[in-house]
Amino acid sequence: MAIYPKLILDALSTVRYPGTGKNIVEAGMVDDNIRIDGNKVSFSLIFEKPTDPFMKSVVKAAETAILTYVGEDVEIAGNISVTTVQQARPEVGKLLPQVKNIIAISSGKGGVGKSTVAANLAVALAKLGYKVGLLDADIFGPSMPKMFQVEDARPYAEMIDGRELIVPIEKYGVKLLSIGFFVNSDQATLWRGGMASNALKQLIGDAAWGDLDYFLIDLPPGTSDIHLTVVQTLAVTGAVVVSTPQQVALADARKGINMFTNEKVNVPILGLVENMAWFTPAELPQNRYYIFGKEGAKKLAAEMKVPLIGQIPIVQSICEGGDDGKPVALNEDTVTGQAFIQLAEELVRQTEKRNAEQAPTRIVEVHK
Ligand code: ADP
Repeated sequence: MAIYPKLILDALSTVRYPGTGKNIVEAGMVDDNIRIDGNKVSFSLIFEKPTDPFMKSVVKAAETAILTYVGEDVEIAGNISVTTVQQARPEVGKLLPQVKNIIAISSGKGGVGKSTVAANLAVALAKLGYKVGLLDADIFGPSMPKMFQVEDARPYAEMIDGRELIVPIEKYGVKLLSIGFFVNSDQATLWRGGMASNALKQLIGDAAWGDLDYFLIDLPPGTSDIHLTVVQTLAVTGAVVVSTPQQVALADARKGINMFTNEKVNVPILGLVENMAWFTPAELPQNRYYIFGKEGAKKLAAEMKVPLIGQIPIVQSICEGGDDGKPVALNEDTVTGQAFIQLAEELVRQTEKRNAEQAPTRIVEVHK
């Protein structure tokens, strides 16, 4: 028999908390984060105090309820984990209240330079004086530790306001967390959707991001569970889609744009970035070679009525900057550094425009 969350909740609702006599589901003692993997089930129970006298008996009763209700072949993975209210994560949607703008960076296809753009945008925004956080959620190829030269960093946890929080690494003025700090990249590909989403939720909700003007999330390419987790967990301000001018990349970028603007997801597109827009050799700085086609992303932006917020050429230093862990945006005196600073300025303009457009709606709601 297939096991699904409702079945587990039904089983758990047969358990009563002796303190109040209410069933534990009704009493909000079951964390909504139930994980099911084949016949393995794991979940958390939430108690008011770590010293709750009924904790052991409730955990035991929950275990028995699942085995009786769901069937003998269900396996409870590990122990039922127990969380106390002080540690429980804030409600979805109320996460990151100190963050002004949450921006998802995505691409239809891999290898178009999404992570390069995300890293350089983060550095450029920090250079412009904004408080910036960057979350590398590219679970299948986390590249930020390398791009920021912090591959050996291991973020530690600290007790903050009664909660144990992961402290982001700080480099080049950017607060950074990456799934790559916690798993080897060769293991990351083995992660199941649910595991990856849970890890991501932790990096969002259980980390000390603090006050931020811009929180950038480098998403995996294409559309995945991770995209859903992000849009369902956070009030995303808008998305930036990166594409090369090549036809196959554009076709996937179009799908990416449609996913965000789909009425169920409803995340506005703040802009399309045309990366690898042309190649200019160092010895012939005037010449532009349109290796992947000319202005493909510009045309797509016009057609889909989304702003084109930047065109970044193919330049060797951009690639080297990524490999050496020194994003080119650190050096605003270079042409490439300038290109990313201008991209950041345009993103800020689009975000502010978007926020201003939204403001009247909020007032209307207040008067209702
Ligand atoms: P994605 O995140 O879309 O998979 P990456 O950012 O990892 O792509 O980029 C893929 C490769 O292309 C990397 O080696 C990167 O350094 C290189 N690259 C990206 N953008 C540029 C560019 N504008 N000029 C030169 N190399 C680039």
